[in-house]
Amino acid sequence: MDIYFDNSATTQINKEVLEEMMPYLTDIYGNPSSIYSLGRRAKKGIDLARKRIASSLNCNINEIFFTNSGTESDNWAIKGVALANKKRGRHIITTSIEHHAVLNTCKYLETEGFEVTYLPVKKNGVVDIDSLKKEIREDTVLISVMYANNEIGTIQPIKEIAKITHEKGIYFHTDAVQAVGNIDIDLKDLDVDLLTYSGHKINGPKGIGVLYIKQGTKITNLLHGGEQEKGKRAGTENVPGIIGIGKATELATEGIKQKAIYLENLRDKCINGIMENIPDTILNGDPVNRLPGNINVCFKYIEGESILLMLDQLGIAASSGSACTSASLEPSHVLLAIGLPHEIAHGSLRLSFSKENNEKEIEYLLTVLPNIVENLRRMSPLK
Ligand code: PLP
Repeated sequence: MDIYFDNSATTQINKEVLEEMMPYLTDIYGNPSSIYSLGRRAKKGIDLARKRIASSLNCNINEIFFTNSGTESDNWAIKGVALANKKRGRHIITTSIEHHAVLNTCKYLETEGFEVTYLPVKKNGVVDIDSLKKEIREDTVLISVMYANNEIGTIQPIKEIAKITHEKGIYFHTDAVQAVGNIDIDLKDLDVDLLTYSGHKINGPKGIGVLYIKQGTKITNLLHGGEQEKGKRAGTENVPGIIGIGKATELATEGIKQKAIYLENLRDKCINGIMENIPDTILNGDPVNRLPGNINVCFKYIEGESILLMLDQLGIAASSGSACTSASLEPSHVLLAIGLPHEIAHGSLRLSFSKENNEKEIEYLLTVLPNIVENLRRMSPLK
């Protein structure tokens, strides 16, 4: 049996998305900057993708910019706003549970003379609004808070934070890589200044990202070169990728509420099954205020990696945290930030579902997981 429970790491490309991309990988290979018809057709494809995204997320087409990844969009948003506004101040606020694309960008800016406050989060992984308010200073130019966490799935009160930020005349960025396609997003209503997301997390292709930049936002370029993307992001466009993320965004945002209900049912059935059948287990993150398809648990006395190997032998793909930290021996910074001690944080398992998953797969997991945990605990020196 092949079961894929790692949709927060990446997703399978949707067939309709692939079909729309194919002509741009084969026949319509013209450079979109060229004036002949082959180039104009490629340019038309880009225009359509931008239109689809703007209408799916409710913003203007000239506020959507294509990048090569969620990572690039995060880098651009943070470095771009920090550098463009450094005369006003050099202080940035973010959280201690951000993805490394945000955290390491902020760390880099610290080496360039910026000061960064890394807000702690509450035990359930939610930012404490009062401490956020307290950290705002005269020289704060940017606040960046992720919409939903990629490990524990906790959803932040983004609209409320955007409001507080704007009352102080500060720019607000949100990394919505895990949120788009899972949470209904209306950019006019949300009122953030910058929003990041990525194609491969929403059944689109890899190597393509979006940065939404609200009109009027003062931001410098990250890449310098040609005049692509209205002179703001140089480099010949990844036309098939752009077509792909455009279609994927449209599909991922259609029927989003029903999809969320479906995933919540799978999630809660799985959480209940795990918690009832496996003793000494901790559910990480908020029990309710979390991504519809996210589960993150810690099994005391064992290593997350050994669970993953055992699951893999049975055809189940899962994760112990984010794909980026799985190569490292350090426990997840997110689990440490919510207060778990090192030895417990090491025993984490993340399952992330998509609408392709079904109850049968959950039932199978629930029949094999208790035995895996029990066997590993029997061999554990920690028990
Ligand atoms: N931000 C979050 C919250 C993510 O989960 C990821 C990917 O795991 C990224 C940023 C980076 O996106 P990409 O893989 O497109 O660079």
